[in-house]
Amino acid sequence: MKTIWSLLALFTLLLGHPQAAETPNIIIIYADDLGYGDLGCYGHPSIRTPNLDRLAAEGMRFTDFYSAAEVCTPSRAALLTGRYPVRSGMCHDRFRVLRNVSTGHLPADEITLAEQLKGRGYATAIIGKWHLGVWANNPEGHPHRHGFEMVFGLPHSNDMDPTAARRPPGADNREDPDPQWWQAPLYDGERLVEQPADQTTLTRRYTERAVKFIGEKKGGPFFLYFPHSFPHTPIFASEQFHGKSPRGRYGDVVEELDWSVGRVIEAVRAAGIERNTLVFFSSDNGPWLIRDLAGGSAGPLREGKGSTWEGGMRVPGIAWWPGKVPAGRVCRELATTMDLFTTCSLLAGAKVPADRPIDGVDILPLLTGAGPVKREPFFFYRGSTLFAVRAGQWKAHYLTQPAYGTPRAEAHDPPLLFNVPADPGERFNVAAQHPEVLTDLASAVTKHRAALQPAATQLEAVRSETRAP
Ligand code: MG
Repeated sequence: MKTIWSLLALFTLLLGHPQAAETPNIIIIYADDLGYGDLGCYGHPSIRTPNLDRLAAEGMRFTDFYSAAEVCTPSRAALLTGRYPVRSGMCHDRFRVLRNVSTGHLPADEITLAEQLKGRGYATAIIGKWHLGVWANNPEGHPHRHGFEMVFGLPHSNDMDPTAARRPPGADNREDPDPQWWQAPLYDGERLVEQPADQTTLTRRYTERAVKFIGEKKGGPFFLYFPHSFPHTPIFASEQFHGKSPRGRYGDVVEELDWSVGRVIEAVRAAGIERNTLVFFSSDNGPWLIRDLAGGSAGPLREGKGSTWEGGMRVPGIAWWPGKVPAGRVCRELATTMDLFTTCSLLAGAKVPADRPIDGVDILPLLTGAGPVKREPFFFYRGSTLFAVRAGQWKAHYLTQPAYGTPRAEAHDPPLLFNVPADPGERFNVAAQHPEVLTDLASAVTKHRAALQPAATQLEAVRSETRAP
């Protein structure tokens, strides 16, 4: 009997089934500047997001999910490396993000999730906005050099171009931008295929590529990183969605993103791989509030993109994996985009790098409902400066600064203290009532700082012809 079981085990091993079952396909869909309050399942009253609502109903919705930065470039570096951006140099106190003239990029010695998964035999693709290197200025910044085999999309944000002067003032805030005001470059691999990109069809075309990739790679395993260009301004929707949402053009754009999510899930189901595919949806930072009607909503949270208040960094987080992530769960534990690096690496059977600090933790126990996970406090950086810390229910702000328009941060001594679940809008400072909490948080910050080795920033390097003479 024992021999039969051993033979069966050997036979199954040879067929490779256990490995296949243990190495799921991974799809990360990352919206740009989508706020905490912009989806139906997060309480938006007039933006219709039936596909994301269904994703949450069939999977898990996080209430306290954070991006590790308040703007685009550092948040993407953190997601793909599992590390605070201060460790990779992908942040800067003043420049904030890579610009179209930048020559800096994600350093070659950083290990991306794509490299981790590729090393385990995954097919890898990025469809959408990269923003970790402008390869027209420096080929080392191309996603091909960072683990992605298939590449389709923009190197940076959709509002960055060399002809900005032609745009009228306030163009970003308008609900009816002219596509000709922007010169966004669309690439297929390393080939420039369209400039200016027709942004009205960008979401649709990204989605078609994603569906094609899933169909082609359904034999698995594959990693699809799908960072959308929207709802970062200027916002455009295709004809099918234009003028349809009660929320105006911003609603049109988010409703098209929702459609896109629905198409991806349909493709996964059509391929019959839904029980072996983890889909995670999130956003790179909070809503761009200074864009007025063209910007989103942080719901009950304070401030938005560019800020270390909750609205700048707490974002939607939805996990879907039928049969593995229990349906209809709401997870109220703190989790971050950096955790996706660690969790997905381990799911793929890759080792988490031991030669460097990795800030993400394995959240599989949260995803499966097995129980909470142990983690360090979460640190809120603006650029390379630590502004705040959260541990459990408590968040202390050492520095605060409005997202835009104020050159200097305001220091707080004693720090501001908020009980985040009790006061998600961070309105009532309770520092005076809880001095012992401040002491604990301060020692966590001291410990973090003592071990930190910040990398030289990549965001200062620009093309020489753009430097002042
Ligand atoms: Mg963004």
